[in-house]
Amino acid sequence: MCGAVRYTVRGEPFHVGRCHCADCRKRSGSTYTVYGQWPRDAFESTGEYATYDNDSFCPRCGSRLFLLDEEGVELQLGSLDDAPFELRPEAEIWIKRREPWLHEIEGASQHRENRLQK
Ligand SMILES: [Zn+2]
Repeated sequence: MCGAVRYTVRGEPFHVGRCHCADCRKRSGSTYTVYGQWPRDAFESTGEYATYDNDSFCPRCGSRLFLLDEEGVELQLGSLDDAPFELRPEAEIWIKRREPWLHEIEGASQHRENRLQK
């Protein structure tokens, strides 16, 4: 939000999803997150960021940034500058925690908890 940390991703994400899990609720302060996952080498960042349990955030304004591990980078689509996107969740996870007033995303696979690992 403040611009102290900037990042870019190149190309298409290998997965886009919406998550209603307890951690996503807590970390976003909202009732779900919408995220994209890209290969690690499609990602570049500048600026100092802080981390908590692999999750990173801006030490200046507190905005949540990205989640980096060996497999790739996951980021909240709302953190990118351009909007809206062509990107659309293809899976919805932890729907047992989905608020009853939220509709399921048409065409997205539905999972009570996590998706099965491939
Ligand atoms: Zn989650």
